[in-house]
Amino acid sequence: MSADPQKTFYLEVFGCQMNVHDSEKVVGTLLAQGYRQVPTVEEAGLILYNTCSIRDKAEQKVFHRLADYKKLQKQGKRFGVLGCVAQQEGAKIFERAPHVSLVCGSASYRNLPQMLVQLEAGKRVTGLDDRETEECFETEFTARTNPHRGYLTIIEGCDKFCAYCVVPFTRGKERSRTSDSVLAEAKGMADLGYSEVQLLGQNVNSYKDPSGKKTFAELLAAVGEIAGVRRVRFTTSHPRDFGRDIVEAIDAVSTLCDHVHLPVQSGSDAVLDAMQRLYTREQYLERIAWIQAARREISITSDMIVGFPGETEADFEQTLSLLDEVEYDSIFCFKYSPRPNTPSLQLEDAIPEAEKSRRLIILQEKQREIQRRRYQRHVGQIQEVMVEGKNQARNQWIGRTSQNKTLNFTAPQEVVPEVGSYIAVVTTGSFPNSLLGEMVI
Ligand code: SAM
Ligand code: SF4
Repeated sequence: MSADPQKTFYLEVFGCQMNVHDSEKVVGTLLAQGYRQVPTVEEAGLILYNTCSIRDKAEQKVFHRLADYKKLQKQGKRFGVLGCVAQQEGAKIFERAPHVSLVCGSASYRNLPQMLVQLEAGKRVTGLDDRETEECFETEFTARTNPHRGYLTIIEGCDKFCAYCVVPFTRGKERSRTSDSVLAEAKGMADLGYSEVQLLGQNVNSYKDPSGKKTFAELLAAVGEIAGVRRVRFTTSHPRDFGRDIVEAIDAVSTLCDHVHLPVQSGSDAVLDAMQRLYTREQYLERIAWIQAARREISITSDMIVGFPGETEADFEQTLSLLDEVEYDSIFCFKYSPRPNTPSLQLEDAIPEAEKSRRLIILQEKQREIQRRRYQRHVGQIQEVMVEGKNQARNQWIGRTSQNKTLNFTAPQEVVPEVGSYIAVVTTGSFPNSLLGEMVI
């Protein structure tokens, strides 16, 4: 550990699971370079923001944060912007926030050790030129924050260029790790005591093994068969690359969790076409039918966007009717947010903000009613949960089911369930977003 106050860092993460996991790798890299992580901005010599630019709001948050702490520059603190806003805004960040000295996109994290040396020498540093790289950020220094459940990136970047999305511009070309490298990391995690592995990628199922040894479904099964691995999750799946073999793998390997996140974005063919998703509602529903025909009941969740340019009331109703048809266990829904560089910026027929908000509320309310019904059916069932912690105020333990649902439960006073352990719980009550239960003795 270094006693040099400049070699302390504070890191705040915005955005998705990919960003959370990238941050674990960045933290590991900094620790390996002799830095020490501190819990507050005040204690840190280097202040880092790992940013998200998927929607306008996420991006604004970062600039507010930079403005809030500008005054600390006088104390010799240095600031760095990492991730999607860094890649998107590039050196322009220095104009808007002159106190920043490091701007680095996710495709350049491999070069962080060299960049840190330059930063320590008092230079301004950028890492923005690696969007065309074929390499993934593989590091032995990942500092995972949870000792039981860990992320593992198998594919980075995206080549799909949906009309609304900034990811292909911020995270670079799609590139997969070899299956040997993924399996070695998963085995290493299992040896360290991780019982749950979450495979990550912008489109995890677009995985293409550079060594040609395994398909995505085969890799999934192989991770599930590693000794010590009890649960495998994977996110996010793209409908276009979703094959039946994934469902077959879930049926065949009991450690693969019974949950698929399959973002649809819209229920209207006209909007799907304008979004350049390259599938129809019917093709999407065909994939849903495969999942629903599995031997185990698989929970299905999704992402939706309302107010895409040109979305008519009739299009929106198609999205509502899709909710009835699929009966998702949960959805993330967003108002369309125009993003720099994206093709949909050129589209006319913008939907007013108030109308986007109205559609969002209708969608959320409809889904809430569906969830209320869907969650009720678990009452009386016994499910295995991974214990995540305790809610002291309610005197309840927090558990997570294989379907990724929160199941809060009580245990007899003399029993103290261990965090990270797996126990059987009978469900006694339900809400739209969680379940209630009692530990089975
Ligand atoms: N690759 C995944 C897919 O294609 O389904 C999605 C990854 S993206 C990081 C997560 C979600 O953000 C998307 O599914 C979409 O619903 C939402 N999103 C992306 N761009 C958006 C935008 N410009 N406005 C609103 N929501 C957006
Ligand atoms: Fe964005 Fe589309 Fe790529 Fe998903 S598939 S990350 S929505 S461009």
